[in-house]
Amino acid sequence: MLRLSQGQLSLLEYCPRRYQHTILESLSVPASPELLTAQQWGDRFHLLMQQREMGLPIDPVLEADTELQTCLSQLQAQAPQLFDTTGEIFRQSEHERSLTFQDYWLTGVYDLLRLWRDRAEIVDWKTYLKPQKQQHLQRDWQTRLYLYMLAETTDYPPDALAMTYWFVRVESPDTPTPAPQQVRIGYSAAAHRQTQKDLERLTQKLTDFLAMGLPFPQLPVGSDQCANCPFAVRCQRGFAQETVVSTLPSLDEIEEVPI
Ligand code: SF4
Repeated sequence: MLRLSQGQLSLLEYCPRRYQHTILESLSVPASPELLTAQQWGDRFHLLMQQREMGLPIDPVLEADTELQTCLSQLQAQAPQLFDTTGEIFRQSEHERSLTFQDYWLTGVYDLLRLWRDRAEIVDWKTYLKPQKQQHLQRDWQTRLYLYMLAETTDYPPDALAMTYWFVRVESPDTPTPAPQQVRIGYSAAAHRQTQKDLERLTQKLTDFLAMGLPFPQLPVGSDQCANCPFAVRCQRGFAQETVVSTLPSLDEIEEVPI
């Protein structure tokens, strides 16, 4: 059974050919040093929050990274409710959840899951320097899939669920001190039905592409998405830098991925 994460759903919706290269053929694209540094900081923050939730000592980690220390203390000062476990019946960081859907296996890892008798909240830590807009996050497959899976795998009605993104590294305009910001997204029966429909559409598309046994469709020539795509040369869209694409193996060199 093929696994589908939120990232894979986003890729499939963004461009089927890019999904094919990235997921089915495991073609990787070297990240820029700036992106790598940002990702590593994000990983450290997630690990810190996990260790904290598990009751493991975090002082040595904080002593070695003052920015982590500042972000955590700002978050604790600004959002004490995040750390208040009163009334919770379940709380777990890095909580894994999965669900069989058609012939696929939907999966997700919640940074933090909090359950009360009458409601549930998924918390996600974001370590970008700027917050994302509510509208964008509402449409994002991470939000949609995570809430959908929680509704399907628990007895809570959709309107008792919410997902809260915490942008922990956002700087305040006046001082260089981080001023964490949150974006809270509620859920509803209508949103649940819409996600179900979109999942059916997307998974059916994937099933059809796989059954055809042909290269997955590309986007039309001139699409904006191709301009920044690392597979542009391979796709004969001509925008990508040769240095990036030349690091990718040719299709013939890639072992078949069992599906
Ligand atoms: S270049 Fe365009 S068509 Fe090709 S994979 Fe990238 S986004 Fe898709």
